[in-house]
Amino acid sequence: MLRSIHIAITFVFSVILSTSIQAQYPGWQQEADYTMTVDMDVEKHQYKGSMSVMYTNNSPDNLDKIFLHAFFNAFQPGSMMDVRSRNIEDPDRRVGSRIFELTANEVGWIKPSTLTMNGMPCQVEVDGTIIVAKLPAPLRAGVTCKFILDWTAQVPRQIRRSGWMNKEGVEFSMTQWFPKICEYDHHGWHSNPYIGREFHGIWGDFDVTINLPTGYEVGGTGVLQTSRKTAKKTGKWHFKAENVIDFAWAADTEFVVRTEFVDGIEMNFIYKPNKEYNKQWKELPRFATQSMAFFNEFIGKYPYPQYTVIQGGDGGMEYPMITLITANRKLPSLVGVTVHEMAHSWFQALVATNESLYEWMDEGFTSWIESECMAILPSFNLDGGDESDAAPDGLHDWAYSRYKRIVESGKEEPLITHADHYTTNSAYGVAAYSKGEVFVEQLEAIIGDSLRDAGMRKYFADWSFKHPGPNDFKRTMERISDIELDWYFQYFMNTTHTIDYAVKDVKVDIMKSTITLEKIGHMPMPQDLLIKFEDGSSLKYHIPLVIMRGHRPLDGDEQIAEDWPWTNPTYQITFPSMGKKLSKVELDPNRIQADINLKNNTFDFSK
Ligand SMILES: [Zn+2]
Repeated sequence: MLRSIHIAITFVFSVILSTSIQAQYPGWQQEADYTMTVDMDVEKHQYKGSMSVMYTNNSPDNLDKIFLHAFFNAFQPGSMMDVRSRNIEDPDRRVGSRIFELTANEVGWIKPSTLTMNGMPCQVEVDGTIIVAKLPAPLRAGVTCKFILDWTAQVPRQIRRSGWMNKEGVEFSMTQWFPKICEYDHHGWHSNPYIGREFHGIWGDFDVTINLPTGYEVGGTGVLQTSRKTAKKTGKWHFKAENVIDFAWAADTEFVVRTEFVDGIEMNFIYKPNKEYNKQWKELPRFATQSMAFFNEFIGKYPYPQYTVIQGGDGGMEYPMITLITANRKLPSLVGVTVHEMAHSWFQALVATNESLYEWMDEGFTSWIESECMAILPSFNLDGGDESDAAPDGLHDWAYSRYKRIVESGKEEPLITHADHYTTNSAYGVAAYSKGEVFVEQLEAIIGDSLRDAGMRKYFADWSFKHPGPNDFKRTMERISDIELDWYFQYFMNTTHTIDYAVKDVKVDIMKSTITLEKIGHMPMPQDLLIKFEDGSSLKYHIPLVIMRGHRPLDGDEQIAEDWPWTNPTYQITFPSMGKKLSKVELDPNRIQADINLKNNTFDFSK
């Protein structure tokens, strides 16, 4: 009796619960609010840390353990990052065998000394870059507890992202630097060992006090709680940040700071004066503030009060409210990398998809808005910029060409691959950055550019602070376009099938002519067909796929053609030629599709 009442109550409750979960899937997020103090020993490159974390288990599960990242432990000979780097066929030049060669003073480590939960000690085990803490009592669903952790750490010699003394002499690049609680979400725990790339974190508030000797200048996530002058004089750097997934900072005694404001956001530019790049860094703010304004308009308002571009690290790396970037660059490169890292704010820091699982939804989407932004910036002299930094001719050409090159090489791996587990670094790079960018751009061929752009804004508005996955992105694009997109995600995300459509044959008759099109690649796509006549007139047809159950909005001079069933290798279309001479028949004339063979897209009558 009691049992059946219990079941009935549970049933009613779970119906209510599941309705609310569906309304705002996944419906819950863990929360971790950190208050920490760090005492730096700059001579030894070591520090003592102490933090109290209010951790709220908003999940429906009781937790008997938690995992924390101890990223610095990757910088030791024999670590998973080191072994991987020495065995992969195309190692990152910045890493190579450098971890293997680190001396005892140069390695990184994090050693927890005590960890308690509500005053009771946890059983702690350090397993490489992950700290496993068995809780003294289960942390029940819906309950908040207080973890107190004291630890010591040695900052590694800068090799990848964080460390002391980067190649430009920046003293401290402090990223992935503190014991950080791993994310537990609707997929479960994400206790990824630190191998190379891409992260996932819990949103929370950070109250961080860094004690340094006097004379340092510091840039960090969050808002400095005193004036810079006071902090520099006392050596006490107190930052607060609300609702961020990480906290990063950098420090040097020679840093200079320049501050600008745009849309009410404070933008700080911090670098070491140097005759090689002073000029570029003085130019940077005007490009960066324009980019910030562009992203606010194009994607949605940046919600934090400040953003810092600071010299440090080993390239460009994004963190909430701050990016670390190497300084010695020509202007196009400095602007290009800054724009890219800033663009991450929208997808890495705010939408914050699990980057390890869906790296293309972070790097790819970021690269896509970066390319859109580069097109609106005032042009600068590109001479001397290397290929990767130059704005391409077509906004997204570079992404398409990189994607096509890896397809030709036979080394492509599907987008769904975990970021750390690609066979080669280049397969990861192309998938995450280039195919991810093409993924978004190519939606234009299916749902049209205005709905795609509106969809990106809606995706940002609906999914900020929620860790969405591919299906959430798909549903946003489906809802805004009323077109089914299962097939697009299935092919382009889960497989390495490619697109290749061809004009197979054209039968010309005086009044009516017939074109035969052919689907050669395995991946289906709707097609745009342009028919040009010698008198300068033209016809445009849009050919949707049956499985789309709809089509994109048409331009004024376009006509809709019969749907093409993906099962059919060929497709015929008859059009009125009305005695006019044909000059050209062309598929995908705007080159929106990543069609791997463009030679067969055109039937040219003048040749
Ligand atoms: Zn990036």
